[in-house]
Amino acid sequence: MYDKIKLPYSYDELEPYIDAETVNIHYNKHLQTYVNNLNKALDGYNEFVKGKTLDEILYNIEDIPQEIRQDIINHGGGVSNHNLYFSILSPKPAKSPKGKFLDEINKTFGSLEELKEKLTSAAIKQFGSGYGCLVKDKENRLIVMQVSNQNSPFSDKLIPILMIDVWEHAYYLKYKNLRQNYVENIWNIIDWSKVEEYYNK
Ligand code: MN
Repeated sequence: MYDKIKLPYSYDELEPYIDAETVNIHYNKHLQTYVNNLNKALDGYNEFVKGKTLDEILYNIEDIPQEIRQDIINHGGGVSNHNLYFSILSPKPAKSPKGKFLDEINKTFGSLEELKEKLTSAAIKQFGSGYGCLVKDKENRLIVMQVSNQNSPFSDKLIPILMIDVWEHAYYLKYKNLRQNYVENIWNIIDWSKVEEYYNK
């Protein structure tokens, strides 16, 4: 059985950037549905996933029997992506990374500000549902990418370390059609110490 992370803040603590009702519905309804559907899809297939983390399953998605593979991509990706998204948000975020991670950001993008601009643009321009995403490859190189639907970067052998959910359910109650305002505001609650932790893992 796979599960969602425990939310490290209360529903209203991300205000005014993300409203309490959105956090509540997103976490308890949308994410919970992915959890339920993932576990349902895996029912009877335990031998294929025994002892594996969800991220390991997504990384080796071709090992999953074809008849349930698309369900695992959709719902397993939904759980993994959301767990990352919710875990990097914080009401008291570190506003900048440090050390080796910051050096790599500067080397790759010029500065943290330039990385944020690139990632903002990727998130805003993602056509339809998906994510703007910062990943690292096997050599710890950083890449900004877009992800459609609930596809997982793990299945492309990339490690996601920051994901901005741009499905409408992530922002529509407060921002309506103004995805750009939501993405620009989310930088106020992205905890770079958490992203750095994933980079250093
Ligand atoms: Mn979502």
